[in-house]
Amino acid sequence: MIQTARSSNVGLEQRAWQIRRNALLMGEVQGQGYIGQALGVADVLAVSYFHALNYRPNDPEWDGRDRFLLSIGHYAIALYAALIEAGVLPDDEIGTYGMDRSRMPMSGMAAYTPGMEITGGSLGHGLGIAVGMALGLKRKRSAAFVYNLLSDGELGEGSTWEAVMSGVQHRLDNLIAVVDFNDQQADCRSTDALCAEPLEDKWDAFGWYTQRVDGNDIEALVAAFDRARAFDEPRPRAIICQTKMCKGIPFLEEREITHFVRVEPGEWGKALAIHDARRPQ
Ligand SMILES: [Mg+2]
Repeated sequence: MIQTARSSNVGLEQRAWQIRRNALLMGEVQGQGYIGQALGVADVLAVSYFHALNYRPNDPEWDGRDRFLLSIGHYAIALYAALIEAGVLPDDEIGTYGMDRSRMPMSGMAAYTPGMEITGGSLGHGLGIAVGMALGLKRKRSAAFVYNLLSDGELGEGSTWEAVMSGVQHRLDNLIAVVDFNDQQADCRSTDALCAEPLEDKWDAFGWYTQRVDGNDIEALVAAFDRARAFDEPRPRAIICQTKMCKGIPFLEEREITHFVRVEPGEWGKALAIHDARRPQ
C-alpha cells in the first residue's frame, strides 16, 4: 500500500535539489553545521522519501509505515530537509533550526521531531535498533520495512557488526541497511581510520544481499532500492551508497575538512546562488 505518490526520476532530481536547498537554508540559520553530509546524502533521501518508503505525511506514527532510522544523529539537518520536502514538517520552521525549543535540534532526537524514529548520535547503535524493530514488526506480521541510514564511520563500531550478524540470524527480509559511504568521518578519511573495505564482500560474507552504487546517481539508487525490496530470499539487504561530501557546491566540495563545515556569512548566499542556478527542469 503506497501512501505517497511515486515520483519520476526527473521529479526525484527536483526533490533532491529542494532537499539540498532546505539544508543550505538551515545551515545559514546557524552559520555552520553538517552541511557536507546533507548535500552528499540528498539523493539517497530523495529516493527514500519519494520512491521507496510507505508513509503518511500527516500521520507520521501510522502503524503501517516503513521505518526510516537515522542512527547518525548529526545528519539531522539532512533528514529535516527531507521531512520538510515530504510535508511531515512545515517549511516555515526552517528558521528555527537549532534554536531553543525548536522541533529541529542540531542532533536528531525522536522526542522532538515528527518523523524522527530514534534518537541517534552515539554512533553504532542504529542498526541494532533496526534489527530489533524489524524483528518486532515481523512478529506482529507487519508488511513494513525498516531502513537504517548509517555512515561509513559507524562501520568502525563493533556493535554495528553484531547487528549485521543478528539480522541474518533472524532472517530479517524486512531490513535494509543504507550505508552513506562518503569516506569521511570526524577526523579523517574513514578508510584511513579503520578501513572497512572490501565493503561489499564483507556484507556479502555475513549473509546480506548487498549492492554498491553511486549514491549521487538517482537512477542507480532507484534500481538498487527496488532490488533490495523485491529480493525474495529470507535475509537482510544492504545498499552501499558512495556519495560526495558537499555535492553540488564546488567551492565546498574542494575543502579539505568537510565533516563540520563553517561558512562565512557571505558564503551562504554564494552557495545558494550556485545551487539555485542548477535547478533541474
Ligand atoms: Mg562518513
